[in-house]
Amino acid sequence: MSPETKAEQRIQELRELINHHVYLYYVLDSPEISDAEYDGLFRELVELEALHPQLITADSPTQRVGAPPLEEFGTVQHREPMLSLGNAFNADELREFDLRLKRRLAIDEAEPVEYVCELKIDGLAVSLTYENGILTQGATRGDGRVGEEVTQNLRTVRSISLRLRGSLPAILEARGEVLLSKEEFDRINAERREAGEPEFANPRNAAAGSIRQLDSSITAERRLDTFMYGIGYAEGLALATHNEELAFLRDSGLKVNPHWAKCSGIDEVADYCEDWKEREHELPYAVDGVVVKLNSLELQRIAGATTHEPRWATAYKFPAEQAVTRVRDIEVQVGRTGALTPRAVMDPVFVDGSTVMHAALHNEDEIGRKDLLIGDHVVIQKAGDVIPEVVRVLKEKRTGDERGFVFPEKCPVCGADAVRPEGEAVRRCTGVACPAQLKRSLEHFAGRNAMDIDGLGPAIIDQLVDNGLVGDVGDLYSLTLEQLVPLERLAEKSAQNLLDAIAASEQREFPRVLFALGVRMVGTHVAQVLATAFPSIEALRGASVEELAATHEIGERIAESVATFFAQEQTNAVLRKLADAGVHLQWQPPASAAAESPLAGKRVVFTGALQTLSRSQAKGMAEGLAARVVSSVSKNTDYVIVGDSPGSKYDKAQQLGIAVLTEDEFVEMASAGSGS
Ligand code: NAD
Repeated sequence: MSPETKAEQRIQELRELINHHVYLYYVLDSPEISDAEYDGLFRELVELEALHPQLITADSPTQRVGAPPLEEFGTVQHREPMLSLGNAFNADELREFDLRLKRRLAIDEAEPVEYVCELKIDGLAVSLTYENGILTQGATRGDGRVGEEVTQNLRTVRSISLRLRGSLPAILEARGEVLLSKEEFDRINAERREAGEPEFANPRNAAAGSIRQLDSSITAERRLDTFMYGIGYAEGLALATHNEELAFLRDSGLKVNPHWAKCSGIDEVADYCEDWKEREHELPYAVDGVVVKLNSLELQRIAGATTHEPRWATAYKFPAEQAVTRVRDIEVQVGRTGALTPRAVMDPVFVDGSTVMHAALHNEDEIGRKDLLIGDHVVIQKAGDVIPEVVRVLKEKRTGDERGFVFPEKCPVCGADAVRPEGEAVRRCTGVACPAQLKRSLEHFAGRNAMDIDGLGPAIIDQLVDNGLVGDVGDLYSLTLEQLVPLERLAEKSAQNLLDAIAASEQREFPRVLFALGVRMVGTHVAQVLATAFPSIEALRGASVEELAATHEIGERIAESVATFFAQEQTNAVLRKLADAGVHLQWQPPASAAAESPLAGKRVVFTGALQTLSRSQAKGMAEGLAARVVSSVSKNTDYVIVGDSPGSKYDKAQQLGIAVLTEDEFVEMASAGSGS
């Protein structure tokens, strides 16, 4: 394999991995790996892309921040993008940042530049819009361009003024961080532990999970706080420096962190960072570094930004603090997505400002990689994250009484097979009715591309599960009005609407039902392919791994995942309930149209703005004709369908000599294929 192909493969692999973790972190607020591990993957991708700039695509995680907004929320288009920050891990990296900036701004290297240093609060970025001093809109950062509209929830945060004071611009968009104090974070996690709910990994995920609630009363119960740190947009406000911005925000009645300093030159900045590195744990809230910003707003404007971060600011990240303790046991928890995650239970130890007794072990291999035995003495480390990790084992302290840990192959919560596909780090429970995953299984089942049950959102799901009304997706179909009406905020009319929506979902076609079951690796497209080849649950259940894998587009891993799913007893129990309810567990595939379509089995990529079709319509059309819609162009791509102002994908298609279709040509081909 050529080095180029190898790099391309690794880049692809890293993007998939990073996107998966981005989803868990930003969308589900429930990361599976540590930030340090994530940062390692991200840095590797940045370095590889720097070596092979021709492989950079607009959808690479290095070109974006965060993740797109959740469908359940309304969206807000930010006036100015809300970006991420570059990092500096030591004084040398701070100096490199300073030099880069001076070169770009044509400032003499010896001349000290004025910076403002602020604490880097470990929370969730939000934007607050005030019109004539009145709070009219609150949003999350989202993917940096489009955020989630969470005004109602932000109104419940006491330190957010609903009305500002003083002389104000007509429109002011202030930006800052929503956070939870360490005390409040511990309180919420203790409550969740008691309720058998998964704990939040760190205050940042907890703050994010609290703001991104569909039910504002839950947000109100969490005592969230804010620190505002910048202005995104202000109509007719003439300020010259960031320092003045902070003072303006504070004087207008917003809460600004009192710890900030103007520094002349990067050496003063480094001293400031060093000082807080030592004192950070004195604070009652989590900070993971110091943000260093150019003070002059004019110079900020000239320096500009990349698609990922401003060039005029950087985050100095605190190194982690370490301590030694002994591992008493290893326990395995099951997350909302079914991931089995081991953690070490340790002798309590004081580190980085608090006493801890659990350390994250992230995944099965990590235990082997670290050669960790139960009874070992270990060095643990804790940074801005509240859950510490095991850095290394002190083998010299072994007494011979230590014992190895055998990772369970059955889910410790529901007993279903827990499988780990080749090449993946995480073992997952395959139980369709696993209590640990129930809420998420229901959310997926009710989703727009699945059974599309209108009104069955996370808040209702919480109540259905917490009140024991639903133990698996099959139970939805036996719910009654009497059971629903007593639920909070569910008037009789909405309860009836929900029952009607559930009943209507019985009519969904078989491929959607198959997708809704949430079989690992079976997305909408694979469900369609499987349902076409095996048009009933009986046919699928009866198929061997070999038969499944012999289907076009179905690889060994998907085949194994499907076979394991159908081999679980709880799958059969759920399917029986669905069958009793009259849900379609078989269908008549619209046979020939798709098979004869010129797009059948072809890999197609869309790029540019389509004129007559929306992206999802176009995608649906292509998939209906058995095409495979992929996001990036490679030599395996069959067609690139080009709309207006296509980007680098079009250039790449030309380079690789791939057939290019206009939107009209695509529609023509699709209608020939569907026989209409
Ligand atoms: P970031 O948190 O490193 O920096 C940008 C953010 O800092 C801003 O959006 C803002 O919210 C915040 N901030 C706090 N105080 C500030 C201040 N005074 N001024 C300006 N901004 C301030 O970047 P990011 O893009 O939000 O997230 C990347 C981080 O998330 C990394 O640390 C990464 O490890 C972690 N992450 C982890 C996983 C995982 O699976 N563990 C996945 C994705 C991201």
